[in-house]
Amino acid sequence: MTHREHKSVVIVGGGQAGLSVSYYLCQQGLDHVILERHAKFHSWRNNRWDTFCLVTPNWQCRLPDFPYKGRDPHGFMVKDEITDYLDAFAETFNPPIVEYCEVTKITPRPGGGYLVDSSQGNFTADQVVIATGGYDNPIVPPYAQNLDPSIQQMHSVDYRRPEQLPEGGTLIVGTGQSGVQLMEDMHLKGRKVHLAVGPAPRSPRVYRGRDATDWLYEMGHYHMTIAEHPNPEHAISKTNHYMTGRDGGHEIDLRKFARDGVSLYGSVSGMHGSKVEFLPDLGTNLDDADDSYVGIRNAIDAYIDKHDITAPSEPPFEKVWQPAQEITKVDCDREGITSILWAIGFRPDYHWIDVDVFDAKGRPLYDRGVCQADGFYFIGLGWLNTWGSGRFLGIDEDAQYLTNHILAKTNSTLKAAS
Ligand SMILES: Cc1cc2nc3c(=O)[nH]c(=O)nc-3n(C[C@H](O)[C@H](O)[C@H](O)COP(=O)(O)OP(=O)(O)OC[C@H]3O[C@@H](n4cnc5c(N)ncnc54)[C@H](O)[C@@H]3O)c2cc1C
Repeated sequence: MTHREHKSVVIVGGGQAGLSVSYYLCQQGLDHVILERHAKFHSWRNNRWDTFCLVTPNWQCRLPDFPYKGRDPHGFMVKDEITDYLDAFAETFNPPIVEYCEVTKITPRPGGGYLVDSSQGNFTADQVVIATGGYDNPIVPPYAQNLDPSIQQMHSVDYRRPEQLPEGGTLIVGTGQSGVQLMEDMHLKGRKVHLAVGPAPRSPRVYRGRDATDWLYEMGHYHMTIAEHPNPEHAISKTNHYMTGRDGGHEIDLRKFARDGVSLYGSVSGMHGSKVEFLPDLGTNLDDADDSYVGIRNAIDAYIDKHDITAPSEPPFEKVWQPAQEITKVDCDREGITSILWAIGFRPDYHWIDVDVFDAKGRPLYDRGVCQADGFYFIGLGWLNTWGSGRFLGIDEDAQYLTNHILAKTNSTLKAAS
């Protein structure tokens, strides 16, 4: 039998989620290790484009006992500032991390606990925390392989700057946070952009004198738990509201970009040779995004009225552009489209976890990250508990909650043994 090192807790993943749990375990003096496939904070350092900046304001960066203390709490850190902030957090407690160590298998250990196999040796653990983020596999639909190979394809995870793509037009597919920001990045650098607009909602940025996220925080929106949410399935599956933190932050109204020369289409439905097919849903998707935008404005207005707050007024929202018709087919050759940039998201990859903690669709089952399998946990996923669970805002609270569970289990095991 191969030698296995024993740890009370193994944390898989060295991003902000894994290190936040480690911070509290270090405080409690509980032996543990973080196993990280790359170097710590790999996603922030290596999977973002050159002009990347936070969409959430800096004040929402609240890692354990390490809130953002810079000069611009209402600004949006750029990539290097984010990694400096994360590195400075890690320096506060010297986490026990093994880098370049991929966990390849986790199975229940007969008699209790878990067997953890990794590229740098094997472990036994009383408890395991999965903190691997939700962004393992970039999504590209199967029909993408029908596209003429002369048209270059790239996923948003590989995009750094427009110069990576050939001269000519680029079709960006998807209008979540990444899609709209890559559209703006290419458009500002003078590239011809075609954009397939999906069903993502959008948000105001500054409204009635304050950032919409400030209002929403004050209104209690970010304190709502998934258990309290009126439509939890919808909340979990919904794409994020789009806006940007670029150049101090602003809202993204795709109609304005259409007016400025970006070509808009509906959702992509197929590809054959040099032809791309679209659903006739551009008008609906733009209207729905505007409805969510206006809905947030209305909610803020109602809050201001209810609490008699003095705030500047705003002109009513106006649609500055309408599609003349729904375009359902485009010939890339004819339109001069030489590349496709996929920005339709990611899927997590849990194939290496052989523990009974998933539903029929392979989604992890838990209550605030605590699984039915004894001593098995997830952290860092969207709406694990609140909106902020998959972001900087909520990770501290979730890490404290899991640490309390981990300690309670450790103490009850010790008590039973004595
Ligand atoms: C484009 C983009 C923009 C975002 N913008 C914001 C924002 O503005 N504000 C905000 O608050 N949040 C934002 N987020 C969301 C979130 O804060 C980040 O995704 C953050 O990186 C999540 O941290 P994490 O620790 O949960 O996961 P990650 O940072 O992804 O860390 C998980 C780690 O697990 C490792 N790993 C995976 N599998 C294994 C394995 N089998 N063995 C060992 N290690 C493994 C990975 O290498 C990785 O380093 C954004 C996300 C994306 C993708």
